[in-house]
Amino acid sequence: MDDSSCLELVGAPASLSFPDLCANCGHAASDRLLVERRFPVRPHGSPRGFRRIAVHVPFCRACVAAHRRQLPRLSLGAYLKAFFHASALLPALASAAAAVLVGLRIETLRLDQKQGTLIALTVFFALTSLLCLRAASRQLRVWTIRPTQVTESFLFSRDLSRGFERERHSYTLRNIGFAAAFESSNAGRRWDRTSRSTRWSASLRNLVFAVIALAALGWWLVTVGESWSHVAPP
Ligand SMILES: [Zn+2]
Repeated sequence: MDDSSCLELVGAPASLSFPDLCANCGHAASDRLLVERRFPVRPHGSPRGFRRIAVHVPFCRACVAAHRRQLPRLSLGAYLKAFFHASALLPALASAAAAVLVGLRIETLRLDQKQGTLIALTVFFALTSLLCLRAASRQLRVWTIRPTQVTESFLFSRDLSRGFERERHSYTLRNIGFAAAFESSNAGRRWDRTSRSTRWSASLRNLVFAVIALAALGWWLVTVGESWSHVAPP
């Protein structure tokens, strides 16, 4: 029998309050683990990109140890595959090489306009390299941070909000004690389909839809009217 609890909360997962309890067993938490999920940007179309959502979830010492034991060991082939998937790695290395090459031409004892340009270029390439490295480390993390039975005790959905609504996610929580504490910590974030703001968002969506439909109708009538005015009388 599945005893997990489900709830829907408004706001990004990382912005929520977490009780000092282990999400897996409900005992006192000692550490936090990064729980990360990736969702297609367009869930119903061809997935061209992913939105990464990560949150630090509390766990107890025993569950953290169990999570580390359950982590799959990556083979050399998997590491190589990860390396080739980190598309930001190549520009990071190229920018670092450019920073070194330009930096070697700087003469510290002579400070004229040319030297100033070289210093500015070195800083630019170094910063570009750092930004690309940051992006590459995120791409590589997809391969190294894997869900385990422990971290799957805290599951969250993609953003379920519709037009003019605040971001919201549904949560599936394995441990009932943690779920109750988590729910009371975020009591003000519970999504209510009958609340005034939800109804206001729905009315605004309907209004925008009606305006678009009327504009389309008006455009069609004008186009048809113009085509009729060009028809020569018999
Ligand atoms: Zn635990």
